[in-house]
Amino acid sequence: MTTKTDLAVTASGLVKLFGENRAVDGIDLEVRRGEIFGVLGPNGAGKTTMLSMLATLLRIDGGEAWVFGVDVIRQPHQVRQLIGVTGQYASVDENLWLFGRLLGLSRIDAQARASTLIGQFGLEEAADRQIATFSGGMRRRLDLAASLIRRPPLIFLDEPTTGLDPRTRGQMWDTIRSLVADGSTVLLTTQYLDEADQLADRVAVIDRGHKVAEGTPDELKTSVGASTLQLRLADPDQLSPASEILERVLRQEPVPTPEAGGLNVALETADQAAEALIALRQGRVSIASVSVAKPSLDEVFLALTGHDTQEHEITDDEMEVAR
Ligand code: ATP
Repeated sequence: MTTKTDLAVTASGLVKLFGENRAVDGIDLEVRRGEIFGVLGPNGAGKTTMLSMLATLLRIDGGEAWVFGVDVIRQPHQVRQLIGVTGQYASVDENLWLFGRLLGLSRIDAQARASTLIGQFGLEEAADRQIATFSGGMRRRLDLAASLIRRPPLIFLDEPTTGLDPRTRGQMWDTIRSLVADGSTVLLTTQYLDEADQLADRVAVIDRGHKVAEGTPDELKTSVGASTLQLRLADPDQLSPASEILERVLRQEPVPTPEAGGLNVALETADQAAEALIALRQGRVSIASVSVAKPSLDEVFLALTGHDTQEHEITDDEMEVAR
């Protein structure tokens, strides 16, 4: 049996009230040691509130939680020794704060650690610059570096890539993967479905303070069912007979893709793919390539909650204002 100390995070019936608003309304969570656990949900779902309670930054109004078996409500000081937190808008332009953290170590150790982190996060070119001149991506990496000075075994990341450009986002993903390869556990929130898909071993989908689903990204996709049959025809001129055959066999209208000879069609069961291919061969339609794609997490989210994630991109300018 898994015990609380085997798990990085255990939460049971977690509740947070803001007046009448049940921002977190009875969430159970188990994060295993050494995994990347993603909390996925739209704006206002309660992700930040849940993370803040687990990180001892916000009072827990109901339920219980443990970090590596340490009670978050009764032993918050011990919990703080085990965690690193970076926030959505955490400002890092306080050099003093950073050096204050550093000076908790000996001078020599602090200098060595700072150089290592600056190297690790690709901040060399910016090391001598005023932080005010940093780009959003650079600040975010410095923020993460600062939270890792003590190498905490559990790292909370609140929307680590919101508002970053795709390249910086990719770098952040690599950094997060390397933290886990070094033995840390990561609990991150995200409103990006592809981020949860790419990065997380397991995902909890949160909507309006409730957990509506949990599993690996693959399990979530499979739970929704429907897949798509993706075909590319050897001869693009056979598009219309191929469409007729598929529509007859699958009772679904195929959708041509932008590239010549490409057709996508929804499947109710995976077995239908074989029926479709046999019918196409009988109809003398030759196929260049075929694959069966599972639904995207976007479709999963829609199926689970009845609405989309209402993504809102936060630009660097908005982040400036928030600071
Ligand atoms: P986002 O992606 O916007 O950060 P989220 O999933 O993290 O969304 P939370 O910030 O946890 O959502 O907010 C959950 C709910 O709690 C929202 O309805 C929000 O308005 C409310 N809320 C959050 N913090 C406070 C606060 N300090 N006081 C009052 N209400 C709050």
